[in-house]
Amino acid sequence: MRTTGRSEVVVVGGGVAGLSAAVFTARHGLDTLVLDSDESILRRNAHLENFPGFPAGVNARQLLDLLEEQAAEAGCEQVTATVATVAEAEDEFAVETDAGDRYRTEYVVAATKNAVGYLEDVDGVGVIDRGKAYVDTDERGRTGVDGLYAAGRLAEKPHQAAVCAGHGAEVGVTILEDDDRPFYHDWTAPEGYFTDRGREVPPGCEEIDEAERADREARSLDAMAERFAEPHPDEQVTHPSLGEE
Ligand SMILES: Cc1cc2nc3c(=O)[nH]c(=O)nc-3n(C[C@H](O)[C@H](O)[C@H](O)COP(=O)(O)OP(=O)(O)OC[C@H]3O[C@@H](n4cnc5c(N)ncnc54)[C@H](O)[C@@H]3O)c2cc1C
Repeated sequence: MRTTGRSEVVVVGGGVAGLSAAVFTARHGLDTLVLDSDESILRRNAHLENFPGFPAGVNARQLLDLLEEQAAEAGCEQVTATVATVAEAEDEFAVETDAGDRYRTEYVVAATKNAVGYLEDVDGVGVIDRGKAYVDTDERGRTGVDGLYAAGRLAEKPHQAAVCAGHGAEVGVTILEDDDRPFYHDWTAPEGYFTDRGREVPPGCEEIDEAERADREARSLDAMAERFAEPHPDEQVTHPSLGEE
């Protein structure tokens, strides 16, 4: 079997949880690949009104696009694919798609809502069956298998996009901690915030001056004006059982 690629982190599932995990690992410099079958349940939402930061709500398809864009900006690779199996292989994992592509990785984040079939060959994953399947984790998203994490709804988090996104981010940070990265907070601070107090800029933080801040703000204004200039083109998705006859 050919190996298509090697990453430090493979995230299975690119919904809000998986993409949020990927943003954090990629921003810290871990080679991160998201394999996603493009069926986030959030695509079924009619108008997302409880996600922090959007007082009038936001089109959920738009939010997913923005998250994908943010992950790409952080350096994360994203491939549309369905993962068929995850297997342990010599201190690593081999992740195989149903198209036969195979990726080696040190860390796997499972963020597939209630899909667990691809994990059945990994000894030590606790699957909880409550009508729907969930993966048993500790409070930071670690499963019973070193290097394998679960995030979002799959890790039994409450069924809200903000909660699942937050948990994905927490799992990303947990991987950085478990990898012994000198990780601090992933903060952007004003120039002098640390250094004018005689402190080093902590790992994972940066200080930016006013010109750089204004540049970044201008870029964000342009990006948001473009993304929100028109209604999102994707149609709302409904429950599969209500699809066309
Ligand atoms: C009709 C409806 C309306 C909703 N409205 C709201 C709302 O208003 N506010 C709110 O907070 N929440 C809402 N939700 C809930 C919200 O959508 C979920 O809580 C959230 O999307 C869960 O995030 P997740 O990342 O865990 O899962 P998902 O967003 O579902 O992402 C899972 C991803 O895994 C992928 N995947 C699955 N199996 C594989 C595989 N084998 N290989 C590769 N990829 C795979 C899927 O394609 C999907 O992209 C709504 C849900 C529904 C159904």
